[in-house]
Amino acid sequence: MAPPMSASRFLDALKDEGVTVVEVGDWRHHNRNHKGPWGPVHGVMIHHTATSGSQRTVEICRDGYASLPGPLCHGVITKDGHVHLVGYGRANHAGLGDDDVLRAVIAEKALPADNEANTDGNRHFYGFECENRGNGEDPWPDAQLDAIERVSAAICRHHGWTHRSVIGHLEWQPGKIDPKGFTMKTMRERIEERLK
Ligand SMILES: [Zn+2]
Repeated sequence: MAPPMSASRFLDALKDEGVTVVEVGDWRHHNRNHKGPWGPVHGVMIHHTATSGSQRTVEICRDGYASLPGPLCHGVITKDGHVHLVGYGRANHAGLGDDDVLRAVIAEKALPADNEANTDGNRHFYGFECENRGNGEDPWPDAQLDAIERVSAAICRHHGWTHRSVIGHLEWQPGKIDPKGFTMKTMRERIEERLK
């Protein structure tokens, strides 16, 4: 449990971890804070966008849709491994998820199955949307997986969290399948190794 980093600290943490960052517009002040609280933060959530085309994907994640206004995450990780910062603060990425999962993330224990949607995740998770069609066939380039590993490790390092504080949307909200194409178990092992 921790207050969120400042936007400047967040930016520095990513850069210190070797992430290639692209700042998009007034990302520091683009958020949904008027709709609810942001923090305390407990973890990092990874998503796929189910889109194709890097520029279009970044635009969608910044602006959102009429039914789901942006920002839809904090950073968009495109296939080239660049991390496009589109918002900071409360973002529409996690939705409602399972309070048992949140408790496990806070305790950094093994995750239970997500079978309830009763808890506001946008308040408690940093979120990264990754450019991928999400069909299980669209490849995940090494540069993109490396960036997922680095952004996650950067945040965990700042907050003193372990790899267990990083989850996929599919582990949070019943019915979600993202990210699809690699496993969160494998990604957590990579993050654990990086944090050693
Ligand atoms: Zn998602």
